[in-house]
Amino acid sequence: MSIRILDQALASQIAAGEIIERPASVVKELAENSLDAGASCIDIAVEAGGVRKIVVSDDGEGIARGELALALAPHATSKLASAEALERIGSFGFRGEALASIAQVARLRLASRQAGSEAGWLVEADAARVDETVRPAAQPAGTTITIEELFFSVPARRKFLRREATEFAHVAEAVRRLALAHPAVAFTLRHNGRTLLKAASGTPAERLAAVMGADFAGVMLAVDALRGPLTVRGWVERPTQAGGGRKPAQHLFVNGRWVHDRALRHAIGDAYRDVLFHGRQPAWILFLELPLDAVDVNVHPAKHEVRFRDQRAVYATVREAVSASLSGTHPMARDGARPAADTADRRSTAASGPEPEARGFDWTKLAAGEPAAGYRAAEAEASAGAAPRMGALRAAPPTAPPSGLGRALGQLGSLFIVAESDKGLILVDTHAAHERVLYEGLKRAWDEGGRGAAQRLLVPVEATLDPLAVDALLDAEALLGKLGFELDRIAPGAVAVRSVPVLLAGLDPAGLVGEVADALGKAGEDDRLVSSLADRVLADVACRAAVRSGRRLTLAEMEGLLRRMETTPRSDQCNHGRPTWVEFSLEELDKFFRRGQ
Ligand code: ADP
Ligand code: MG
Repeated sequence: MSIRILDQALASQIAAGEIIERPASVVKELAENSLDAGASCIDIAVEAGGVRKIVVSDDGEGIARGELALALAPHATSKLASAEALERIGSFGFRGEALASIAQVARLRLASRQAGSEAGWLVEADAARVDETVRPAAQPAGTTITIEELFFSVPARRKFLRREATEFAHVAEAVRRLALAHPAVAFTLRHNGRTLLKAASGTPAERLAAVMGADFAGVMLAVDALRGPLTVRGWVERPTQAGGGRKPAQHLFVNGRWVHDRALRHAIGDAYRDVLFHGRQPAWILFLELPLDAVDVNVHPAKHEVRFRDQRAVYATVREAVSASLSGTHPMARDGARPAADTADRRSTAASGPEPEARGFDWTKLAAGEPAAGYRAAEAEASAGAAPRMGALRAAPPTAPPSGLGRALGQLGSLFIVAESDKGLILVDTHAAHERVLYEGLKRAWDEGGRGAAQRLLVPVEATLDPLAVDALLDAEALLGKLGFELDRIAPGAVAVRSVPVLLAGLDPAGLVGEVADALGKAGEDDRLVSSLADRVLADVACRAAVRSGRRLTLAEMEGLLRRMETTPRSDQCNHGRPTWVEFSLEELDKFFRRGQ
């Protein structure tokens, strides 16, 4: 076929397709226009998943009668005047394409009234044909846009729409994102006449609870960090709550705009790596604010991606901010270290219903002398991703004073340390707690460069292994050296162990080396980076070296472990993200025994 220039109508239909992919894209573009117009209240009503009808109305500044038709023209915008201004975009829109694109692929009616003007006016468009006559409209101050029969003129696109419920789910997600980022603006969302979201203007924490539910808000840790011109705020899920199952809420906003950014997702994942089992996905909602000229928003048709001038700095700051929040979860830090925003979100949780603390843990089993069964049930649930019932086992009750983990009283069924604090009763999962303490210790030694981390053995110990395992150990020689291991191959399938990490000095050196070889063997594709391989090995070694369940500890050992936990970052959960301890206050116990009265 010879080369031809597409006719205008077809070309603009194709261009429109890049911005308007489905009803949710229409909702996003229209609501963003409302935000740009300074609205304090945005109402969104859709029918049949948005395919039949979408109405977005706002109380923003409105459009002058004389500009109504112009607003629908391609490249018509009030937001961008010059090329220089393109470098500092503070508005959502700037290309002047959205309304024109929507008008290409649907029936559109735009009614608006500026504050102070006597009456409202409207224009209509129908598959690109803008009716220039401006007619009077019954319209309060603000703008109402009605879209009907999306893609009626583009059968190819219409075919790709999904079921009504699916399209509506996308619409709801778009509204959720906008509402999370703009807590001061009131939002309502209706579908087929039913109200599905009603969020009044409020604080970020109130908005979080309104959009995501109070239960969700209750298990989030606040993030609040400032580094130079960059602020990172928001919430990350407690590792003890993160499930492996359903898709978690993960939202990243840059200057109020929802964006998808692989590198930043990675940074967040990195911060969780120490505290969350591989494969588990935590929820997070983070807001980055940075100077307008430090980020380019003009790189994606739907503006779902941005480019940072200093990507590395942004990445590092986000990682550190999340990491700092997560490391606030050790016993001594539970009150003081928590940012103010979290207190606010707790308040809103408390106001909306009883604290989830009260349900869940099976007291009857505990009373009947079956702690292990009760615990295992909860643990099995946790790994199955049933987060809600884990509420009772939440490691850090918000009301507890920073009194630490108390005095060890003894061991329960060799699995738990029982301790008495000034608040009540504390149970510590011995293995999980020991694992966490060891891991953090090994990691600190590793981070400090491994100097002095090695303990020389008086007599080298021989470890017999699979020749391939020996190969793997020697390949990782530098890494193991830094951890404190010194190994020599003495036969194809044997090494002499000359030194081990100080922290693991009490263990059988040959067994330890075998376990390290195992860990190396299991390290996967994404562990090619030295730091991530080291993490993997450290976590594995800590897990295996931790007190085996079944072994009885002395009181002094228990005390030692409790004191170490108090000063160990992130000790509220083990390396697999499960809680390491739980506290039952005297009041809770009292309530339990008096329950029948
Ligand atoms: P852009 O947002 O990129 O400027 P749009 O096609 O989305 O382009 O909108 C075109 C213009 O119409 C905007 O620049 C703005 O002046 C006006 N406009 C659109 N929606 C509204 C609204 N809800 N309130 C006030 N003005 C609006
Ligand atoms: Mg716009």
